[in-house]
Amino acid sequence: MAPFQKVETLWFNGAFVPWDSARVHVMAHGLHYGTGVFEGLRSYETADGPAIFRLDDHLTRLFASAELYELEIPYSAAELASASLELLTRNRLTRTYIRPIAFFDAYSLSVWPRGCPVSVAIAAMPLGLYLGDDAMQGVRVCLSSVRRFDASVIPTTAKSCGQYVNSVRAVQEAMRRGFDEAIFLNQRGEVAEGSGENLFVVQGGTIVTNDVAASVLPGITRATVLELAEMLGIPSRVAPITVEDLRSADELFFTGTAVEVTPIRDLDGQAIGDGRPGPVTSRLQQAYFDVVHGRDARYRHWLTRPA
Ligand code: PMP
Repeated sequence: MAPFQKVETLWFNGAFVPWDSARVHVMAHGLHYGTGVFEGLRSYETADGPAIFRLDDHLTRLFASAELYELEIPYSAAELASASLELLTRNRLTRTYIRPIAFFDAYSLSVWPRGCPVSVAIAAMPLGLYLGDDAMQGVRVCLSSVRRFDASVIPTTAKSCGQYVNSVRAVQEAMRRGFDEAIFLNQRGEVAEGSGENLFVVQGGTIVTNDVAASVLPGITRATVLELAEMLGIPSRVAPITVEDLRSADELFFTGTAVEVTPIRDLDGQAIGDGRPGPVTSRLQQAYFDVVHGRDARYRHWLTRPA
């Protein structure tokens, strides 16, 4: 995994600052207890310049995550949106990953974060294919021995910093065993999702994905793909997914802001379909890339460009 590519300027607590000066105190509450919330967005090159995909939807989820943890973001969504867009311009960036994060900063040792100031940062940086340069030929995944946390433990609809230790454990195991990514089972032993992406199964031309009842984050890319499937006349179903469904699938693919639409070519060493990206996955992937690059006029409202 490549280290992130530093850019000149980040946005930190209301100001544009050089990358190296965006520093946090070691006693930050968020560092000790994982009390922060974040988002992941992407910007793409379009014919009219760079644009961020579904900016408003990501910021809506950021504020919803924050509310759940009683974390008051001291900026409006409009301010965070304009800072995100301005980072592209200031750093002369086109294809990026954008990471807004809000967390309880240093104030108290108490687990109760009351009184901790809230710090907010946004970084935009170049990012290629999240699961590696060959990812679009299909990735190799394993079923993780680490189970997905249940919504009764931590809500799966939010993106909080601390919850990602669950994903870290699954990814570390997958890498140790020589795979590209892990798939979680939930507490019931059904399929949940990847460490940072949703999962779709293709069964006889129908795409199937699960929902929050399976302990997954209801991803924005997942929702986008369901909408594109409808537009393309590809039948879809939202239902629980079993391990057997994975093993007998015609095709499997991940969706997520970072992984976009990534085919899965093998599960635990067993080929999915003929071990190559399947036709349904490829159609949806093409449609997705057309949308994010502004080539499909019907979905331009999902793209926001810097002023
Ligand atoms: N599940 C998890 C656990 C994730 O971290 C992500 C990435 N945010 C997703 C699914 C996909 O969500 P989205 O499509 O909104 O990026």
